[in-house]
Amino acid sequence: MTGERGPIIAIDGPAGSGKSTVSRALAERLGVERLDTGAMYRAVAWAVLRSGIDPGAGPPVVEVARTLAIDVGDRVVADGVDVTDAIRSPEVSRAVSAVAATAGVRAELVERQRRWVAERGAGVVEGRDIASVVLPEADVKVYLTATPEERARRRHEEGAEALARRDAIDSTRDVSPLEVADGARVVDTTGRTVEDVVEEVVGWL
Ligand code: C5P
Repeated sequence: MTGERGPIIAIDGPAGSGKSTVSRALAERLGVERLDTGAMYRAVAWAVLRSGIDPGAGPPVVEVARTLAIDVGDRVVADGVDVTDAIRSPEVSRAVSAVAATAGVRAELVERQRRWVAERGAGVVEGRDIASVVLPEADVKVYLTATPEERARRRHEEGAEALARRDAIDSTRDVSPLEVADGARVVDTTGRTVEDVVEEVVGWL
């Protein structure tokens, strides 16, 4: 921690690694806000599908990202529509990795994510490229993992195959692939309680 601001914590990891649960509990424990950047990519994917655009089409997808109003809090609101549930649909889960592999989409959302943190001076930010790209200056960088079986169990509604496909695209794309960033601490959440993981992370502050 430096100066007047609070802690900035970056949480990355594949689907089902425990990011959302851990970051929610961590934010509460520290009294700071949490930003789910995956919800932002999902909101863009939702809007792309709504417009009948191919998620891999490039420029029209970037245009959607640039013009979409996204509010990510307890509810996720896109262009005034509450999409909290809609962005978790199988259709959006199938489309989101192609949308997120689009460089112009990432440039737009990364800028918004940095602004979110600059406005607050603190926060728990979760995603895939937070420690590597969005906030390399974060006070603590955490890379969560869990066994493939455990991750598939946590995301059983998506299905092990769809999950593996999404992780493969996220980890091999040209722009900001999911990887363990320099200085990140790797935490395997398999078989551990949320409280236990939260206390370990707090101990690194
Ligand atoms: O975190 P969640 O599983 O909801 O993220 C949905 C998708 O959004 C990921 O599979 C990935 O394609 C994309 N994403 C990303 N970068 C982030 C957060 C999410 O590319 N920082």
